[in-house]
Amino acid sequence: MRVVILGGGTAGWMAAAALSRYFGDRLSVTLVESDAIGTVGVGEATIPQLRLFHEGLGIDEADFLRATGGTIKLGIEFIGWQREGTRYFHGFGDVGRKIALAPFHQYWLRYNAEGGELPLEAFSVNAEAARRGLYGVRPGAAAARLPASAYHFDATRYAAFLRRFAEAHGVVRREGRVRAPELTASGDIAALVLESGARLSGDLFLDCSGFRALLIEEALGAGWEDWSHWLPCDRALAVASAGDGRLDPFTRASARAAGWQWRIPLQHRTGNGHVYASAFTTDDAAHDALMTTLPGEAQGESRPLRFTTGRRRAFWRRNCIALGLASGFLEPLESTSIYLVQSGIARLLALFPPPGGDATALRAQYNRQMAFDFALTRDFLILHYHLTERPGALWEHCRTMALPDSLAEKIALFAERGEIVRFNGELFDVPSWLQVMWGQGLRPARHHPLVDAARPADLARYIDDTARDVAARLAPLDSHAAFIARRAAAPAPA
Ligand code: FAD
Repeated sequence: MRVVILGGGTAGWMAAAALSRYFGDRLSVTLVESDAIGTVGVGEATIPQLRLFHEGLGIDEADFLRATGGTIKLGIEFIGWQREGTRYFHGFGDVGRKIALAPFHQYWLRYNAEGGELPLEAFSVNAEAARRGLYGVRPGAAAARLPASAYHFDATRYAAFLRRFAEAHGVVRREGRVRAPELTASGDIAALVLESGARLSGDLFLDCSGFRALLIEEALGAGWEDWSHWLPCDRALAVASAGDGRLDPFTRASARAAGWQWRIPLQHRTGNGHVYASAFTTDDAAHDALMTTLPGEAQGESRPLRFTTGRRRAFWRRNCIALGLASGFLEPLESTSIYLVQSGIARLLALFPPPGGDATALRAQYNRQMAFDFALTRDFLILHYHLTERPGALWEHCRTMALPDSLAEKIALFAERGEIVRFNGELFDVPSWLQVMWGQGLRPARHHPLVDAARPADLARYIDDTARDVAARLAPLDSHAAFIARRAAAPAPA
């Protein structure tokens, strides 16, 4: 079977790497990309699921961090999102520990209501490690469980890294601009036709052509579901700068008048960007807001990017599957785009179509599962904009807009009694919803009644023991900067 991938950004090379790794020579994989068009080249922060992708490919962490200038990410610090002067941390991993009757946070809600002083973050290993700049095990310390973590990396170097992997596993790369696909009489894609006149025929086509969506939309008209009324940011400016001398193991997301700004520390530079809503500010104002708040000297001019939030109505249509920006776009507030590429690849592997066979049911299943992933991730992003006291037209719009029912229900459950319901298979788990809802200022009216059965002395002991667990997890950790220095210096694997 012949798979042709259009596009050599993060999405195209991730797909090429995975298909070549898992199918070997039972599949012929060709990737075509245009040096003249180039890639988006942003997309520097990830979530922990990427570790599974790397484990599956057999990628060595030191090799990866060295090649991409990568660092560790323990979560995101949200600055000024509830109102100016506030901050909270959304860390990966658990908050507190699991016990039988009610979730940890229900006990903490009672403890908090009764005047307990330890904040929610004191029960997150990730929040505490991030505050202290910790990651990795100190040399000489006993083996220890590391905090749940993801990576920051240089997106351009990551695509090059995966390209080396994919080519070593048999993927053939073609350079050139695709003019249009050639369709069969029934409307499937038969081949991609390059400007040079060359023709790349295949059985299955992956549209990884970025915002252009050359195959899934221009040729096959999959349709677009627009979500910009819920997530109105539609532009970004990205610029690299020198760092501030620290190598923080977390992303910073600072709220601004009509959007927000990211700061991502890499080994060799800091990635910065301002995401904003053009209906509520001007490009000049956004530019000034970004350039006056960089942690160090700018490296070059800022790069403008435009986008519309939403998704394709069909991710898989006929013999074409869209991945990455061609499949939809959710702004980078929780670093979910690369994850959505990964989940698309995982589903493609699980629902891989039979050569020449009928794929109607597989296609419908793929589309349903991807739509679910996009919608629930969308809800989590909207939450950050909606629960806020910030002044300004963008924030006012988001605070008062009608929400998707799925999100309104989640907020109501938390407001009434701190309940957090996770839909089966949903990406963000209870600790994520908890940290963001609490961090944005939502306070439940009461805690779960089961928690009242705990005697005060038992509750106090449980809270103290949990805080001690966090301290014990932190004790063997090294500084993140020292961890990265060791990893970057480690010899490449043979
Ligand atoms: P692209 O990088 O645009 O690649 C498209 C490819 O298609 C290129 O190789 C191009 O040459 C090729 N191509 C297009 N047309 C043709 C043609 N006619 N012929 C031949 N080749 C063609 N994601 C995260 O997970 N974390 C983040 O922190 C994050 N931050 C982001 C910030 C911003 C402002 C934006 C816009 C996105 C961000 N993303 C982030 C998303 C992330 O950048 C993308 O999901 C990821 O880079 C995948 O992009 P892509 O490969 O789909 O598209």
